[in-house]
Amino acid sequence: MLPYGRQSISSSDVEAVTAVLGTDWLTTGPAVTRFEDDLAAVCGNPAVAVTSGTAALHVAYAAAGVGPGQDVVVAPLTFVATASAAALLGADVVFADVSEDTGNLDPDAAKAALTPNTTVVAGVDYAGHPIDADPLRAVAHDAGALLLEDAAHSVGGTWHGRPVGDLADLTTLSFFPTKNLTTAEGGAVVSPRAELVAGARSFRNHGLVRDKDAQRFPDEGPWHQEVHAFGLNYRLPDLLAALGSSQLRRLDAFRRRRAEIHARYDAALVDVPEVRTPARRDGADPAWHLYPLRVLDGRRRALFEYLRDHGIGVQVNYVPAYWHPVFADLGYRRGLCPNAETYYAQQISLPLFPDLTDADVDRVAALVREFLGHSV
Ligand SMILES: *Cc1c(COP(=O)(O)O)cnc(C)c1O
Repeated sequence: MLPYGRQSISSSDVEAVTAVLGTDWLTTGPAVTRFEDDLAAVCGNPAVAVTSGTAALHVAYAAAGVGPGQDVVVAPLTFVATASAAALLGADVVFADVSEDTGNLDPDAAKAALTPNTTVVAGVDYAGHPIDADPLRAVAHDAGALLLEDAAHSVGGTWHGRPVGDLADLTTLSFFPTKNLTTAEGGAVVSPRAELVAGARSFRNHGLVRDKDAQRFPDEGPWHQEVHAFGLNYRLPDLLAALGSSQLRRLDAFRRRRAEIHARYDAALVDVPEVRTPARRDGADPAWHLYPLRVLDGRRRALFEYLRDHGIGVQVNYVPAYWHPVFADLGYRRGLCPNAETYYAQQISLPLFPDLTDADVDRVAALVREFLGHSV
């Protein structure tokens, strides 16, 4: 089965990881610091490495002070973690609809979803296309809220020349194997604001305070460290950080190859009236994680099954987050965000990863055309 996404591991990636196994540091050591510096160079702001994209969301919301009595506006066309991490901290999630072309949080819908208790507005770089950052920042900031960008799909992308990581108050990344670069499991929080970076670092490591000047009981002894705010252990090991730094050196090549494959699918399917190829807004230079094709004639499921039967591991991204029973049980109803629901009903992710060959792309596109009754 050809998967919809897959990591690309080179011999230099393998060497980078095995080299760490011979050192004193398996977990937090010099490779984490190096990876954070390498990420900061790509993202334009300081980065805090954590153990997953989900951990990054939890850490970012915690750094933003999200808690009970607060509302967090979230785009529903996403993996459930964008919403559940805020819910776990006790906030009420308010879903706001997406733009019908990109599937990204619509600034007008986000504005309409604001309440006096909104503290964070969370958009998602769906498929790798950056959020509509300028109006969304204005919507959030005018309400005294922070803008969070779930960039699990989009590290390495840019928006009007500015890198993902420099568009929002908080940006979260995922390094799961299907994403644009991998550390196996891993993620990061990126922010231009020193207090948010400090909050993220603290939450990642139990809230432990080691700096004597900041301690309440500095005379307790040289061994002493103390907790001022609750946190968890979300530390990314050196072993995985070394893989991350090695992968980052390949990010440009990954991004270029993903763009090539994207364009090849576009060209192969542009004349098929039953489908819609992915939109790209002016100013967006996406790091494409997904190729979200839309099937307009109601046959998405049949196409999905046809491709699976032919060994093509397609995927659907995503069921609207509030359709999950955990949200339905809280009273969220279908129909809430019509654009996201329509997008979901039509969407199918075709295989997209750097090692995919042109022949694979052509075979997938030919199967799509054949299924829809068009010549190859
Ligand atoms: C993958 C993903 C996450 C979660 O990342 P993990 O590393 O799998 O925990 C969060 N949000 C989006 C949009 C994702 O695609």
